[in-house]
Order: sequence, then C-alpha cells, then structure tokens
Amino acid sequence: MDTFIDHAINTSNTPIDNYSVTVKKTAAQKQHAEDMGDHHAGTAADTPMRPDAFVLTDAEKIEQIEGHFRKIMDVLGLDLTDDSLSGTPYRVAKMYVEEIFSGLNPANKPAMKLFDNKYQYNQMLVEKNITFYSNCEHHFVPIIGKAHVAYISSGKVIGLSKLNRIVQHFAKRPQVQERLTMQIAEELKAALNTEDVAVLIDAHHLCVSSRGVEDTNSSTVTSYYGGQFQNENTRQEFLKYIEL
Ligand SMILES: [Zn+2]
Repeated sequence: MDTFIDHAINTSNTPIDNYSVTVKKTAAQKQHAEDMGDHHAGTAADTPMRPDAFVLTDAEKIEQIEGHFRKIMDVLGLDLTDDSLSGTPYRVAKMYVEEIFSGLNPANKPAMKLFDNKYQYNQMLVEKNITFYSNCEHHFVPIIGKAHVAYISSGKVIGLSKLNRIVQHFAKRPQVQERLTMQIAEELKAALNTEDVAVLIDAHHLCVSSRGVEDTNSSTVTSYYGGQFQNENTRQEFLKYIEL
C-alpha cells in the first residue's frame, strides 16, 4: 500500500471525531490522488474499512457528518443561514448513512432464504436489467447502471427479489465497478452454494461524463463468469438472454 493511502486512513488510536482532516500533501501525493481517480483502480476485492467502522452508531455518524459537511459548504462560501441551504448538511448526512452508503454495514445485508428446487429446474436462471445507483469511491459522484445476474441451481433457489437486493446492497457503498461485480458474484456463490454464477454490469460513471474527460456516451462493462459459465456455450446463452 502506498503512502498516500496510508495517510488517508486513520491508523492512530485517535477517535475519528478528533482526527485532524488537515493532512498536508506534497505535490507528488496530490498528483497520485489525481492519477488513482482517473484510472478508477481499486486496491482490494473487499471494501477497505477500518476494524472500528461500526463503533459509532448511525445517529452518531449522522451528527458528525452533518458537522463536517457544514464545514465543506462553509469553506465553499455558501450562506448556511439561507433557508434553502440550512438543512442540507443534515439531509446529506442522513442520506449517506441511511441510504446511499447503508451497504457498508453488514447488519443491512439482506437475509438469504433458500428454497428447495422442487421443479428440478436445472437450467440457467437470469435476472436482467437490475437498475442500480452506486457512487464512485474516487470522486463520490454517482455510478448509474444495470446489473445482469444468472445462476444454475445446485438444488436450492432463492426468491428473485433477493437477487435484486444483493445488487442493491453492494451498490450502496463507495465503489469501483470491478469490486462491485466481484462482491455480487461472491455473495451469490456463497448464498446459492454454487460456483455457477455470472454477473455482468454495464454502467455510466458520472465522474467520467460530468467532469474529467466529460465523455457522455461511454459506459463501462465488467463481468464475472464462474463454474459452468466459463464454458463458451453457457456464456453465450447468458449473453443472448441479456442481449448486450
Ligand atoms: Zn470516479
């Protein structure tokens, strides 16, 4: 792990609310931060989190984020006494903790109820066009996309809505698309007790379309093919169903 990332993580025992956000960066470290974001490279399959990530309650997190976001708006020169802006720090904090980053908390992971595959349906099941909204972990702006997931039953099946919920859970984190793809695939494999899982994600990154190179047309495709999906015919069948 490089020095910039080390700096960004609170490795001391200092409580997070006392942690100084004034980390002085050299020109090289600033350039590295730019490069890292532009390449959209992640560092690990697991979302990098500190062991003490859930010491604070949701209410405590909302209170602290509200204060920090108020500072950001203040530094930008916005008038926080304006009626339209005064509630924004609280709204953003609540949205972060309870909605768009709620997938960071394992307690929010959807419970996986499995059913016996009574019909002995041992063909491919495809759930396609699952719309999701995530956020790029390098810029904290939206990633909007569609996920297509498939599995071949090993004797158990899950409710179709669960496939959707798994996608939504991992989308509600600061993400890179490759990791999102992997996390969905790993969760499906564990829940369904099979390697025969496919995940394909096609997404627009607003950090690419609304800033940076400002390319509004490109989308990013990532995929995972496990077990039988590594077989060319099976993979083609999946791709035909989703008609990509
Ligand atoms: Zn980005």
